[in-house]
Amino acid sequence: MIRKASSVVSCIQKAENILVAGHIMPDGDCISSVVSLSVGIERFGKKATPAIDWKISPNFKVFPWIERIKGFDEEIPKPDLIIVVDASSPDRIGRFENFLRMGVPSIVIDHHATNTYFANECWVDPSYSSTAQMILDLLRLMDIEYDRDLALMNYLGIATDTGFFRYSNVDSSVFQAAAELVSLGADPDFVATAILETRKIEELFLERDAIDNITLLSNNRFAYSYLTLADFEKYSLTDDDFTGFVGELRSIESVEVALFASEARSGEAHVSLRSKKYFDVSEIAVAFGGGGHQKASGFTLKYEGDLKSALSEAVQMIDSRLQNERT
Ligand code: 5GP
Ligand code: MN
Repeated sequence: MIRKASSVVSCIQKAENILVAGHIMPDGDCISSVVSLSVGIERFGKKATPAIDWKISPNFKVFPWIERIKGFDEEIPKPDLIIVVDASSPDRIGRFENFLRMGVPSIVIDHHATNTYFANECWVDPSYSSTAQMILDLLRLMDIEYDRDLALMNYLGIATDTGFFRYSNVDSSVFQAAAELVSLGADPDFVATAILETRKIEELFLERDAIDNITLLSNNRFAYSYLTLADFEKYSLTDDDFTGFVGELRSIESVEVALFASEARSGEAHVSLRSKKYFDVSEIAVAFGGGGHQKASGFTLKYEGDLKSALSEAVQMIDSRLQNERT
């Protein structure tokens, strides 16, 4: 860790104007990493621009510095360094990929095992729970001073990417990192309330539709479901407003693999995959052009016709792998 993190620090030292880019469909870890690293870089005496080519969910609006995150259409000075965080492949940063194509020197800081090592300098370590935990180690190495706001922002990614300290990526280092950030002023209750307890009633109605669409296969070890564009439109919601249902599917006692698809627009869906104990869902995600972790992955599916038929290839792949196992 120290060697890779040190080379990141020397790149930051040499640069003046740094773009910190997160991924499309940003989650808590992405937003936490983009903002915490940008603030850290500024406290290190350099200019930093936090950037995400996607709408930021209203849940995050209560957090400090969120309004500073630039979208692609806003004016952005050409950076002399781009640091990509929490993204396993360059397509994940949306149109900011243009800067990579233009040859701007680049760094990636990421914890996905499926990372494609697409930057000039790659600090990729799947043993970390979250990219936010890597950022904490990096900012410690840079001797950055933490106030309550920075501690809160950095804590956000560790809490969300571990499912609030429940997933298999939790080890004692996660609790140590969280404890340090809480002692610096991060408020766990504020984060949990902002993320978990701000649902609209329409989200529960949508959940009812998603429950109606559940199919169980492979002797109930595989659960999948989906929501179409029409389902979202019925409640004036978008797929960005409805996350987490794949976790509900995995919570079924008999289930090893869960798949949930949401139709973002006509002919395009985001597919989320989860496993409970041993199945490597990242292999499925990679087969469909996506990526992620062994127990949490995803991909974007493009198709003609209806979503349910478009899903059948992935559904069959998972089903047949489970059927072929000796149990
Ligand atoms: P989620 O299902 O919550 O969207 O994503 C689960 C995990 O898979 C996250 O770590 C996320 O970064 C990764 N992931 C989701 N969708 C994609 C995708 O389209 N491409 C890649 N490379 N990773 C994805
Ligand atoms: Mn992450």
